[in-house]
Amino acid sequence: MSEGERLTELAKRRGFYFPSSSAYGGAAGFWTYGPQGAALKSNIEDAWRDRYVVKEGHQEISAPDIMPEPVFEASGHLDGFDDMIVECGECGATHRADHLVEDNTDIEEAESLPNEEVMDLIADHGIECPSCHTSLADQPVDNFNLMFETNIGPGSSSPGYLRPETAQGIFVEFPQLSEYARNQLPFGVAQIGKAYRNEISPRKSLVRVREFTQAELEHFIDPEEDEPPLAEVEDVTLPLYSAAAQESEDGGMQELTVREAVDQGIVESEWVAYYLGVSTEWYERVGVDMDRFRYRQHLAGERAHYASDCWDAESEVDGDWIEITGFAYRGDYDLSKHAEHSGEDYTVFKQYDEPITVERATVDPDMSYLGPEFGGDAGAVADALEALAERNPDAFDDDEVTVEVDGESHTVPVEETNFSVDEVTENGEHIRPHVVEPSFGVGRIIYTVLAHAYETDEVDGEERTYLDLPPEQAPTTVGVFPLMDKDGMAELASDIADDLRAAGLSVTYDDSGAIGRRYRRQDEVGTPYCVTIDYESLEDGEVTVRERDTTEQKRLPIDGLADRLERLATGDLTFDDL
Ligand code: ATP
Repeated sequence: MSEGERLTELAKRRGFYFPSSSAYGGAAGFWTYGPQGAALKSNIEDAWRDRYVVKEGHQEISAPDIMPEPVFEASGHLDGFDDMIVECGECGATHRADHLVEDNTDIEEAESLPNEEVMDLIADHGIECPSCHTSLADQPVDNFNLMFETNIGPGSSSPGYLRPETAQGIFVEFPQLSEYARNQLPFGVAQIGKAYRNEISPRKSLVRVREFTQAELEHFIDPEEDEPPLAEVEDVTLPLYSAAAQESEDGGMQELTVREAVDQGIVESEWVAYYLGVSTEWYERVGVDMDRFRYRQHLAGERAHYASDCWDAESEVDGDWIEITGFAYRGDYDLSKHAEHSGEDYTVFKQYDEPITVERATVDPDMSYLGPEFGGDAGAVADALEALAERNPDAFDDDEVTVEVDGESHTVPVEETNFSVDEVTENGEHIRPHVVEPSFGVGRIIYTVLAHAYETDEVDGEERTYLDLPPEQAPTTVGVFPLMDKDGMAELASDIADDLRAAGLSVTYDDSGAIGRRYRRQDEVGTPYCVTIDYESLEDGEVTVRERDTTEQKRLPIDGLADRLERLATGDLTFDDL
């Protein structure tokens, strides 16, 4: 069984996640998180919120999942959010063409290739339809838009789309959000929410699904002035797989500190480097095995046209690298597009420390001259003169000035423009912030964390499976078991479970089956500590506490138990310290 298969088996059996709507045959790409999975997901989201919102001092919002068409016209998703599709001429199954190439050749990022080249590669390598094994040579490779379309209200006059990323819900509201931030850059807005993509071929359980949770941060900065607090993470080591290394024959991964990566120009943007540093610590915190982790830089053809520096955090499972987070310096692309399409103001007024005096060239054209001279074009000529004065005041040095309106040249005597250069005092200027974005896929992180936590060993001559999840992430922190359901043990165990819950710990109470079986059940869902109440406990007020990874056991007093377990879970105390 592959790592992925045994994980999916455990996930289903123990209630982490399973395919949705299977009573009706299901629908590929939709998964339900069961009780363990939902608890793990919520712990990971809380850890993300703690690091990227609370610790960074950012704000969190919650925008709708459905947004009207103009939003996606502006963002470019309507025209360009496509994947390459190829349809089998025999059985009609559709496949992601670039993935077929990656699965059947040494090429790693076929997404960055043009459609025609992918079509040629399919033919050259004799790639067949995975469903019916008919050759896919000569089948066209087309673009397929991944957005789910719907109608807002009755009828079809108001199309809407399920958002393919949570980010647009932040960008589109920038004018409001900026006001809440008192128009002071830099500020960050985060969102944890659903995103929807009508993936051509969902696969690998949570890795490629059609409905998933993203945790995204849009950090708005003044590109001229704002700098990240790089010193806080400058010594963090980054496993980097640069574009140059990917393109060279013998290039491999490099381990560089954040500071070295910036100084050597490997990571171009200090802001991106800052978030790579922050995130390295965060992945470790939530249980990613850092020996199976890297940051891969986008190749030139793979990078979105607006993004200047892009890195993906990737984890390894079953020998494949999975993108779990995208880090991008998006410049002012998103805000400019929404400004252009909506006509609203997507800038911030940047106040100068001191007012400055500047020379400003202006015109005040004489319309009684322009009107008779240029007829219907007079207004446009006046606007063109105004723009020219701002752009190139020297053009007004001669007796006449020429402007173009709709490809036609119009010449105006300078004296009719009332051109003048005046000194004006300015208190500030309108600037368009740039955006730095870390974009996390929560499901892929859960998949990684579970795959990396999966361990087997031998206990009492039997093979044991356990998840070595960090206590902070484990769905349950403590399992409480009465040895037997008699002589007051169950009552005492139940009181202890209540006390632990009251102290804020996540507790599972289990009184069924042999103690060994109960331990195994908790091991398989990653519960770090179990407490057993036995006959002696009734006498001496002590219980057995067992640690998951070592299976070591210690007797501890019930008095102060909650405090000790809490300190163990937060890493304040180790089991050896007890
Ligand atoms: P891919 O190339 O794998 O399709 P992407 O580059 O399109 O991913 P982004 O648009 O950068 O992904 O989305 C940010 C994050 O959202 C990804 O790093 C990933 O964790 C998650 N994500 C994207 N698509 C999916 C999906 N279909 N299923 C699960 N998670 C996804």
